[in-house]
Parts: sequence; C-alpha cells; structure tokens
Amino acid sequence: MTTLFARKALLPGGWNDNVRLTLDGGRIADVESDAAAEGCDVTLGCAIPGLCNAHSHAFQRALAGHTEVRSPAGRDNFWSWRERMYELAGRVGAEELTAIARQAYCEMLRSGYTAVAEFHYLHRDPLDADATDTMFEAIATAARDSGIRLTYIPVHYERAGFEDAKPTAQQTSFAMPVDEFLQHFERVAQQCEGSLSVGIGAHSLRAVSQESLRRIAAVAGDTGVPMHIHVAEQRREVEQCFASYGRRPVRWLLENFDVDAAWSLVHATHMDADEIAALAGTGAVAVLCPSTEANLGDGLFPLHDYLEHGGRLAIGSDSHISINPFEELRWLEYGQRLATQSRNIVSLRDSHVGSELFARALEGGALAAGRQHVAIEAGAPADIVALCDDDPMLAGHNDDSRLDALVFSGYPLPVERVMVNGRWCVKDAVHVDRERARTEFAAALQRLGSRS
Ligand SMILES: [Zn+2]
Repeated sequence: MTTLFARKALLPGGWNDNVRLTLDGGRIADVESDAAAEGCDVTLGCAIPGLCNAHSHAFQRALAGHTEVRSPAGRDNFWSWRERMYELAGRVGAEELTAIARQAYCEMLRSGYTAVAEFHYLHRDPLDADATDTMFEAIATAARDSGIRLTYIPVHYERAGFEDAKPTAQQTSFAMPVDEFLQHFERVAQQCEGSLSVGIGAHSLRAVSQESLRRIAAVAGDTGVPMHIHVAEQRREVEQCFASYGRRPVRWLLENFDVDAAWSLVHATHMDADEIAALAGTGAVAVLCPSTEANLGDGLFPLHDYLEHGGRLAIGSDSHISINPFEELRWLEYGQRLATQSRNIVSLRDSHVGSELFARALEGGALAAGRQHVAIEAGAPADIVALCDDDPMLAGHNDDSRLDALVFSGYPLPVERVMVNGRWCVKDAVHVDRERARTEFAAALQRLGSRS
C-alpha cells in the first residue's frame, strides 16, 4: 500500500482539501478528505485526474515544425502536407517508431495526459517486408517504457478515394486487405491487458469501402471495443462523399451505422445544422484536435451549436504539432471567440469555462479510450496529475478559478508529478526516463534524415 496526501484534490464532486489517497497496486483503494498528512509517503499540491489524449499519430511527432515552409507553388493545404507526411511514413521502421512514440508519450505525460488512444494505420515496417505486427509492438513498447496508458486503435486503410478502389503507390506501404487487417486486430486484442487495451478503427469514409467499414463496425460491436474514424476533416472530402454516396459524410455515417457512445468521430469539422444536431443526439464522441486542425487549415468545428444539442467531446494532439492538453482546450474556446466576436462560449453547464472544458474532455476522453473510471475515487486506476500549488500560475486562485488559470494562463505548465497505474512517470516536472527518450529520439531522427 502507498499513501499520498494532496493539499487539494479534484474529486468527482469538486475540489476537496487535505485528501489522503490510499493506493493498492495500480488502483485507488480509498479516498479520505480533511485527513492528516502524517505517515503519507508523498505530499502533493493539487491533484487532478489525468486526461486522455484521444487521437494520436505518434510517428508524426517527427514531422513537427518541418512543414511550415511555403512551397514554390504557394498553395499549401492539408493535401500538400499529406505528401510530406507520406514521405515520412515510408521511412519510419519499427525501431524509429519506438523512439519517436516514446518521446511523444513522455511529452504527453509531462504535460498532464495520462492516457492515449493511438490511431495507428502504419501496419507494415517499410524496412522489413516480412515482419508482422512489429509496428504495433513498437507502439506498445513505447507506451510501456514511458508509462502512459495506451488504447491501441488499429486502423484500416485500403483505397485512395471514394472512386479509387486501389491505394496509391505511397499508400501501399500501409494499406492492406480487410481480412488481413481483422486478423491483425484479433492477434493484438489477445495481447492487450493491464494498462494496454484495444479499440478498432477505419481511417475515413474515403479510405475504406462500405463493405469493409461494415465488417469493422461489426467487430467493434461484437467485442465491445471503441470504434474510431476520421470524418469530414476537409471540404474536399465532403464534396467527394456527396458525389459518390449522395450524402455528406456525417449524415451518411449516421444513416448507415448505429453510431452510439462507443463511436469516436475524429474532427467532424464540416457539418450542416442537421448533422450537428443528429451527431450530438447519438452520444458519440467528437474528438477535436484544435492545434492540428489549425496547423493543417482544416476549418473550425461548430462547437457551440454541438454542445447546445448535448454533444460529447474529447481532445487529441493528433499530429503533435503541440503536446499540451490545456492548449488544446484553450484553442477550442478561442476558435469560437474569434469566429463569434464574443467570450466565454463553452460554459453551458458551469459558468467557469476552464472547469467545463476540463470536465468534458475528461468524460469524453474516457469514452474514446473505452474506459469506465477516470476520476480520483475509490476503485479507479491511480492515474493522477499533481500540480505545484505555489506556482505563480495558480497563485491567488481558488477552487472556482483554478482550472480556468490552468487552461487560459498559458505559462509553463505547473505539472510537478504524474502517476499512471500507481507508477510515477514524472517527478519534479521531469519524465523519469527523459534522457534516454531524448537521446534515442534524436538518433532516430538522424537515421530518418539519412534515408531521405
Ligand atoms: Zn488523425
């Protein structure tokens, strides 16, 4: 048994003072408020539950900052960025993927994420055509090494577009027949236990046929794992979907599948008013990635209308142009402020915007990762983020405004310690394996550079 003492802790009912947490293995066995610190193993400032990063392409961490140069044609957009991303995907072997993902996961933990849903479609090692599942093993190893809780989401990719049943030459490095993909899912599902669990996904409506999508959704339903898909990220995709399927992407998906709380729709940026109301009514999670969506020029999710209809959300760092959950939440709100020339938009349940954003991301992130308990409460996994309570960011704040400061102040984050499954991953604001992660990440990038 380990005991922690937190001067403040965010419990399901709100902030409590002088909270003693008793841990048994990787779980919280007991929570006692107004307790004494005597005899506790570690004393914390403000303890909050860790957030789930509900959408990650870990390998893209190697691309961050490398695509911010205007091309000679001067027409840079999502599709030109995708060319650069494919170039990288064609060079990342399992060894590099381990190092890149480990660095990304260490950064996630350092910034207050304790879990990640890895949306993974690079199922083939471009350096070893005979290898099977080594790219999955690279992700699992990176998660184990870093300590982050992983929901591995194997994602199917099989074609270049709605009217193009074959993958492009670049896509052949990760595209595969659906039978082979489902066999991969079955193998990895048997290996996932403890802090490693599994979901399933389809890349997008354009990259997966209707028949394959039906088979994948059926597996999700039969096994009870979360089902993820990119949808309506770009206007071009909406137009192509309408031309081929006679419906906009979200509308088509809702008409053809029993979309419910087990589904995570990533981006869902371009929806009309009917789609917004209909998606919100399903209980599905819209996984929003504001820093990536801004970086790629995707567009702005209709957040206010979606929340007014009772929609659920989660956040993800997606391409990892930024790894900071509080920045994602800040930009969720800022996008709406810029578009509407008003303030404090996401405050439908709680007048404090930071508190509401955090609560929504906590709930939606858990659903997207297929988890039940994410709060600091008895029976829940011991996934805890400890904030330094004498950090200037939090000075002068009370229980009502503390999360507003954390989301909106934007100073260096006051994250002091992070625990996942009862294990400390971050101490004194540094990941416990930082040096190894950095060294191997730098070496992997050097090898990738020599292959370009
Ligand atoms: Zn994505």
